[in-house]
Amino acid sequence: MSKFWNELVQKLDPYVPGEQPKDKKYVKLNTNENPYPPSPKVVKAIKQAVNEQLRLYPDPNADELRKTAAEHFQLDPEQIFVGNGSDEVLAFSFMSFFSAENPVAFADITYSFYKVYANLCSLSPKIIPLNEDFSLPVKAFCEPNGGVVIPNPNAPTGRGVSLSEVKEILEANKDHVVIIDEAYIDFGGESVIPFINDYPNLLVIRTLSKYSSLAGIRVGYALGQKELIDGLNRVKNSFNSYTIDRLALAGAKAAIDDDAYYQEMAKKIVTTREQTIERLQNIGFTVVPSQSNFIFASHTEVDAEVIFHELRDHGVLVRYFNQPRISNHLRITIGTDEEMDKLIDALKLIL
Ligand code: PMP
Repeated sequence: MSKFWNELVQKLDPYVPGEQPKDKKYVKLNTNENPYPPSPKVVKAIKQAVNEQLRLYPDPNADELRKTAAEHFQLDPEQIFVGNGSDEVLAFSFMSFFSAENPVAFADITYSFYKVYANLCSLSPKIIPLNEDFSLPVKAFCEPNGGVVIPNPNAPTGRGVSLSEVKEILEANKDHVVIIDEAYIDFGGESVIPFINDYPNLLVIRTLSKYSSLAGIRVGYALGQKELIDGLNRVKNSFNSYTIDRLALAGAKAAIDDDAYYQEMAKKIVTTREQTIERLQNIGFTVVPSQSNFIFASHTEVDAEVIFHELRDHGVLVRYFNQPRISNHLRITIGTDEEMDKLIDALKLIL
């Protein structure tokens, strides 16, 4: 460790993102990206922004994008905050709403970034184990907490929580912020955005990386009552006022405007997911019910780590998890039908 680093930096355990291979030979099912391209209207809007806007600084308040999102979700633009991917919005949220004295609660297992942010902000989170079947222990999230963060559906399990369960958690945590991370909501979950005007403690976080096929341009946003959004703006404007670049703003606005295209793509992904679950079950996998664009599975006889390495040798990239509460599981992103054929063919050779 460097003698120049401060104590906090020495203790950080930074996040390692999923592999992005440089060559194209892999079927890439490891980072939950959308297998389909963005809407043609998005591509057109970005090209137009290149030609007409790149010499100008972007709007630091992302007014047009917030207006488009507000119309889409029937909210006010002041109830929306935009950031460079939902990871950045989550980071700002941890800085704005949680403290070391009152531990924020999240599940084990869940999106691993939450722990990274908690450490970065010197918080000592309360980690609540999931139930045996990977469902959320709702009652434990209703005990006194200094805030709550729940992805719906959860990652990496793909299991969702119901609206009534979220309501119970919101009621029980009225003095603290409840973040519902809806990164994968459009693949079968139920959004809590309609609760926003009733719950001043609710912050919903969304991304354009999954449903909108725009992981490469980094746009995410938060939706909540104005008081929460003002908190996020105070943090952002303290060091990072021009957050979103012009190409990202143009692409994101066009994506929200072309929801019909994305609904079609999501439908295809859900159909492929259900077919893939059945095919995996037929070759000896146990699969957790999924409401997202990925599945969480374990094989009755063969180790997940072995399958992971052998799949990689066959040109298919997935993720494997082998830690105390989730030994022996694979997380597999849903790709196109052709990509899933390649996965199943490779698995048949391995097993
Ligand atoms: N939340 C969850 C649950 C995720 O899985 C991810 C992506 N890995 C994110 C947020 C962040 O997505 P992005 O920064 O691309 O918006």
